[in-house]
Amino acid sequence: MNHWRPLVTGSRHCSSGTVSKNEDLVMNQKYQGIGMTSQRTRDRLIQRLVDEGIKNQRVLDVIRNTPRHIFVDEALASRSYEDTALPIGHGQTISQPFIVARMTEALLATDPHKVLEVGTGSGYQTAVLAQLVDEVYSVERIRPLQEQARRRFIEMRLGNIRLNLSDGGWGWEEHAPFDGILVTAAPVEIPQSLLDQLAVGGRLVIPVGPRGNQQLVQVTRTESGFDHETLDMVSFVPLLSGLEN
Ligand code: SAH
Repeated sequence: MNHWRPLVTGSRHCSSGTVSKNEDLVMNQKYQGIGMTSQRTRDRLIQRLVDEGIKNQRVLDVIRNTPRHIFVDEALASRSYEDTALPIGHGQTISQPFIVARMTEALLATDPHKVLEVGTGSGYQTAVLAQLVDEVYSVERIRPLQEQARRRFIEMRLGNIRLNLSDGGWGWEEHAPFDGILVTAAPVEIPQSLLDQLAVGGRLVIPVGPRGNQQLVQVTRTESGFDHETLDMVSFVPLLSGLEN
């Protein structure tokens, strides 16, 4: 399992053999956050998630320690620890922290090791998952979003994420079956490929339905079939077909 640690210093080398105090300060401030992105602001968000019913301590700890402000445009950084979805360009949004927590908690209940995510987007949900499971496979259909997310994973030194530019409605057959599948865009009906690529005992967490009437559903695969359970009413961007041109 890969545990991300903030890039705090000491043993880094540069060509002159030293790392300036100033450079350390800049790196620390970027990841630890200051002002509206400070630890205190993040702690308030965690308390809100607890109040809203999130119980899994590992999920709460990872959200507390993941710098959501580097997953949004700098102009929105001051709002990044509010419990709200924010625009990330291309008509897409970074999911609300409560929804990220709720979906991650539902997914982790079956103790998955290998997880497929559909809809990389900003990469925030991907980064949260990568700190909780062994391997994350994430599919996105918009190239610039995927490239930006990839840079963030490198910055955070998350080495257990594999990305694919594709229509995630088809899953990622090459690496199936998955112990868990998490979808962050809403189809009108659950794609059959995703059900097919779920391992027995595994769980699919997915928003389903047309805009304005979506339900968050968890589907658990058993030896004999699939158990469906509705979790919440939600509002996601639609799952679209094909790649964006
Ligand atoms: N988990 C992301 C959510 C981004 S919004 C985050 O928190 O930032 C949903 C994402 O799903 C968008 O980036 C959108 O481009 C992507 N998406 C929509 N349909 C898709 C499809 N068929 N295959 C892959 N990605 C898709």
